[in-house]
Amino acid sequence: MRLRNVPGSEDIIAASRYVVQDPQKEKAQWNAVFEQEAPIQIEIGMGKGKFITTMAKIHPEINYIGIERYSSVLVRAIQKLTAEDSFLPNLKFLCMDATEITEVFAPGEIDRIYLNFSDPWPKDRHAKRRLPSKEFLARYDLILDTEGTIEFKTDNRELFDFAVEEVTSANWKMNQITYDLHLDDIMNKGNVMTEYEEKFSAKGNPIHKYIISR
Ligand code: SAM
Repeated sequence: MRLRNVPGSEDIIAASRYVVQDPQKEKAQWNAVFEQEAPIQIEIGMGKGKFITTMAKIHPEINYIGIERYSSVLVRAIQKLTAEDSFLPNLKFLCMDATEITEVFAPGEIDRIYLNFSDPWPKDRHAKRRLPSKEFLARYDLILDTEGTIEFKTDNRELFDFAVEEVTSANWKMNQITYDLHLDDIMNKGNVMTEYEEKFSAKGNPIHKYIISR
């Protein structure tokens, strides 16, 4: 994602009621951050937040947390929400690097993890930085509920093939997989498009998706 410096983004993030400023303090008590006790689903690498914000609107019975490491990107999601009249009580954002995720969530605290169009990090030596890598799967293992699932989608075939191999080598279970999500009636049911998904499917790229569990 191209990054533009957004003047004042740190201040906007610090003042936003959508952003949890000190997420480590909420470890093991995330439901108390929301107005309701409900399953918690997170998106890691939420970008400008179209997916997670839409999900929060469609599913008020779920608590959503979007994670983005760049303030200049996260601020776009906040600005879009601020321009709307209504407040979404089931949505929070964290400005942090996902490598620290186990310091923020307790074992079993998360019901579902969404990885959407994760950065590919094409060089082999950067494979550990890919969000569907086995190194990240080990972190997700520590925070997911025993029945929890991970949903990953991308148009990048190389990244997807890598991710599928990592599922096997980390001993996770492949529940569902498609190499053309938008033509798959079952997996596409209820699909909410992300910013990247809109952009790349408009170019004719097929979208690949898996759902895994332990
Ligand atoms: N999910 C969005 C979509 O599908 O439109 C954005 C996709 S964009 C290619 C990937 C986003 O993930 C970027 O905004 C990037 O900053 C964020 N990201 C990548 N690695 C991350 C990490 N380790 N922790 C938090 N965010 C990360």
